[in-house]
Amino acid sequence: MTFEDIKNLDEQYVMHSYGRFPVALDHGKGATVWDVDGREYIDFTAGIGVTSLGHADQGWLEAVTGQAAKLAHISNLFYTEPYAKVAQKLCARTGMANVMFGNSGAEANEAMIKLARKWSFDRYGKGRGTIITLHNSFHGRTVTTLAATGQDKFHNYFFPFTEGFRYAQANDLASLEAASGDDVCAVMVELVQGEGGVLPLDREFLRKAADLCVKRDWLLLVDEVQTGVGRTGSLFAFQQYDIEPDAVSFAKGIAGGLPFGGVMANEKCREVFTPGTHGTTFGGNPIAAAAACYVLDRLDSDLLAQVKEKGDYLRTQIEEMGLPCLGRTRGMGLMIGIEVKEGWTNRDLAAKLIDAGLLVLTAGPGLRLLPPLTITREEMDRGLNILKETLS
Ligand SMILES: *Cc1c(COP(=O)(O)O)cnc(C)c1O
Repeated sequence: MTFEDIKNLDEQYVMHSYGRFPVALDHGKGATVWDVDGREYIDFTAGIGVTSLGHADQGWLEAVTGQAAKLAHISNLFYTEPYAKVAQKLCARTGMANVMFGNSGAEANEAMIKLARKWSFDRYGKGRGTIITLHNSFHGRTVTTLAATGQDKFHNYFFPFTEGFRYAQANDLASLEAASGDDVCAVMVELVQGEGGVLPLDREFLRKAADLCVKRDWLLLVDEVQTGVGRTGSLFAFQQYDIEPDAVSFAKGIAGGLPFGGVMANEKCREVFTPGTHGTTFGGNPIAAAAACYVLDRLDSDLLAQVKEKGDYLRTQIEEMGLPCLGRTRGMGLMIGIEVKEGWTNRDLAAKLIDAGLLVLTAGPGLRLLPPLTITREEMDRGLNILKETLS
């Protein structure tokens, strides 16, 4: 099919909830993808932080096809090996106690919210279900995770939203204290606000917020859907902060391209979910779990160290270009935000770059890069060249 054929089917038969760029992608290898006309693009998006090992990684492919040929799905009424192994790997490398699996970031956060509310209910009874989240956060698109998202533009159309969320300013302890009350059970944060514009949280604020949680017997919930699974140069971003979360959600990059996610809990919260209190048909699906096992094995200390080096390299190169439309960069590892200067919009710049053969993302008012963690120096340089030539 040509680009026009696909676009016409989309126009007629698909609900128009996305503002798509005018490209139909067909296949990829590493951090390079090709459209249906055979045009090549360097991929600085990894499908929004999902294809962590790049496209068509050989070992990943074998893990997925091997499991697909054995047992694709059998439900959570039975034990299977792949999900049990992923759970063990995640806990062994984070110090968390156990895991509940789902299929997406929003679902992972729903599980984390349910876990916090039931934890509090089991200890204190009703009336203590409020969760404090931060302004400018993003936690997902279900009715409840939209309510958890601290951005007014997401609180529209779908009324009534789930109650029980209050918002505090990031990096402002007084604002967090002002949001507290007898009804609160938890604080939920992203360590680097992703969709909000790649804004890392202040260490000192986080340390004090964690202390406040202990003092008030609130749970500290960390949404690592975007920052997790090697993206920031450690398996999870919280491992680079001086905190011990009670629960951590993950999704996006965990299975290298398949829908998978979940929430890890610490020792204190390990018994919250009991048979029948939470579940999902696809959660822990053998194919996605086999893919996740493979992704986690590949993310060894070497690869994680490379993520930091590559992130530093990209940021330094971009800042040294001194492009008129771009300002400072920020972020952690291969989660990079680039400021867009006044007079330009991130959407226009992204459209120009994509047209020139470089896939990039926007976040908040800036540009955002989430390349595959395995991106090569050569691919980075080709992408940087396109960036320089297009935006000079
Ligand atoms: C992407 C994202 C989500 C939502 O994940 P979905 O898989 O789209 O449901 C939640 N939280 C954060 C921090 C995200 O980046």
